[in-house]
Amino acid sequence: GKTETLLEVNNIEVIYNHVILVLKGVSLNVPKGGITALLGGNGAGKTTTLKAISNLLHSERGEVTKGTINYRGERVQDLDPAELVKKGVIQVMEGRHCFEHLTVEENLMTGAYTRGDGRGAVSADLDMVYEYFPRLKERRKSQAGYTSGGEQQMVAIGRALMSRPETILLDEPSMGLAPQLVEQIFEIVKSLNEKEGLTFLLAEQNTNVALRYAHYGYILESGRVVMDGPAAELRENPDVKEFYLGMA
Ligand code: ATP
Repeated sequence: GKTETLLEVNNIEVIYNHVILVLKGVSLNVPKGGITALLGGNGAGKTTTLKAISNLLHSERGEVTKGTINYRGERVQDLDPAELVKKGVIQVMEGRHCFEHLTVEENLMTGAYTRGDGRGAVSADLDMVYEYFPRLKERRKSQAGYTSGGEQQMVAIGRALMSRPETILLDEPSMGLAPQLVEQIFEIVKSLNEKEGLTFLLAEQNTNVALRYAHYGYILESGRVVMDGPAAELRENPDVKEFYLGMA
């Protein structure tokens, strides 16, 4: 049957400080149960796109001045980030942002705050997070500020999982991590997608790894989508190979 579109971004424009036009009409579709990659170099507009979806631009003096953002067919662009979390969409910010003075487990528990269900469900979800991230279970009593970059990325994803999302917006999960760890994080994303049915929209500069794990990709350049297609096709595209995979 036809795949359901969860998130639909239609021709959005974003302006910072009333004058700087950064997104110049970006459109994309995120299908339920898929891993969709948002690719492009530094400054292409990936983070801005994710923040536009989560309504996190105000603190940076940015605003969506044109276009629409729908989730399950409903307009979401004026919702608070917390309201969006209730609808099942959560963003994992670039740079991880743990509460450094809390333990790993306390950090994970902060992700459950929007939920109305009981302690039993929360503790079952904590077990689920530890099943996907055994390393976090070992480190659960450690102060988050003293864990490694890879562990902090795991904490950030694990905390998002605690809100029981349907869709995760994941910003630059590979940033600052050694190749082996990047692979490990992407393997976990893949199994969360396959086993929990989680939908992902991930922004990545690391085109190579993203196109190996994603099903579909959009390439952004200077605030516009310049190319999109199934990941397998993008991997074979001569321009993508030359400019993004370094295989000319
Ligand atoms: P990166 O991976 O480096 O974050 P990106 O593709 O995510 O790159 P954005 O962070 O979305 O790109 O930035 C897109 C453009 O918007 C860049 O030119 C950047 O300088 C500009 N920009 C980002 N934030 C602001 C801001 N708060 N005010 C003005 N310009 C901004």
